[in-house]
Amino acid sequence: MALTHLIAGNWKMNGVGASLDEARAIAEGAAALTRIDMLICPPATLIARMAALCAGTRLAIGGQDCHAAQSGAFTGDISAAMLVDAGASHVIVGHSERRTLHAETSAQVRAKAEAALGQGLVAIICIGETLAEREAGETLAVVTGQLRASLPAGAGGSTVVIAYEPVWAIGTGKTPTSADVAEVHAALRAELVSLLGAGNAGLIRLLYGGSVKPSNAAEMMALPNVNGALVGGASLKAADFLAIAAAV
Ligand code: PEP
Repeated sequence: MALTHLIAGNWKMNGVGASLDEARAIAEGAAALTRIDMLICPPATLIARMAALCAGTRLAIGGQDCHAAQSGAFTGDISAAMLVDAGASHVIVGHSERRTLHAETSAQVRAKAEAALGQGLVAIICIGETLAEREAGETLAVVTGQLRASLPAGAGGSTVVIAYEPVWAIGTGKTPTSADVAEVHAALRAELVSLLGAGNAGLIRLLYGGSVKPSNAAEMMALPNVNGALVGGASLKAADFLAIAAAV
């Protein structure tokens, strides 16, 4: 069964109130792109305003991270319940910037994903190899290992999305070859089949992320087992993000 592509934008620590104009333009553009799903994950400070702005449009709003606990003494953190309360429907967990800069392990990512599912959020689980791991020929072992260790109980097509993001391709302008992306996505699909069975595994969307831009989106999005993109820098400008979405 063909899965509907998801084009998701991760704004990271970018955006203030003035950036709502870009979100409005993306939501307006999404109205015509009915064959795909679209999502923006803004910084937490913008989620409620953006969710209100996009209510009733085809643009969904997500968080960039959540804590595994529902509430408590975790200064600066945000819970899955808070994201839902603010109007989010999705949350990214295990982004490589969280795994690297905040030393998050796959076990923690799994706990976060389980907290997200517990609140009815779709968890977008990020995995990906470093350049050293790729050069050592360890890519498939690393990403399938991260997938196994990060996947929450209850994973299925309506609860999780997997984003393959080679760490060395994020924000660098470098991308793997199409053959490399297809090889990794085929391995991830096979791993999901072995973990969840073919029926369930076939419903889970596998996104590619890492320097996706209007000029390479069509080629990436047409690859087998690529069911969308997680876009960083190019999601900050409505024109670029809509051009990527239109390339599907
Ligand atoms: C990301 O951070 O998830 C990402 C894919 O970034 P970029 O598109 O800027 O490489």
